[in-house]
Amino acid sequence: MRQIFVCLNCACFYLPPESMTYPHLDLDASPVHCALPECRSTVQDAIARIKVPEDVIAKWARRAAGLDGEVRRPRPGRRARGRRAASAPASARSKLL
Ligand SMILES: [Zn+2]
Repeated sequence: MRQIFVCLNCACFYLPPESMTYPHLDLDASPVHCALPECRSTVQDAIARIKVPEDVIAKWARRAAGLDGEVRRPRPGRRARGRRAASAPASARSKLL
């Protein structure tokens, strides 16, 4: 089954070919960015800095976008004493971008 990925730059969902190459563009598909040249360079720069493998980041992005099962959120009312409440889901979503 082909997998849907999330671009870490423009946040679009994309479905690369199973071969993970775009033969007509002479490009390899990536699990972390779409085929736009701007997304390619921006995401590759960011990934080089954080030193986490692309497939791991792709998994996090898919999970955060709700493509890989339910989005995991902290359970309400189970925080440790003296800690702040969990932030709202809307603010958590923006951290991906
Ligand atoms: Zn993109």
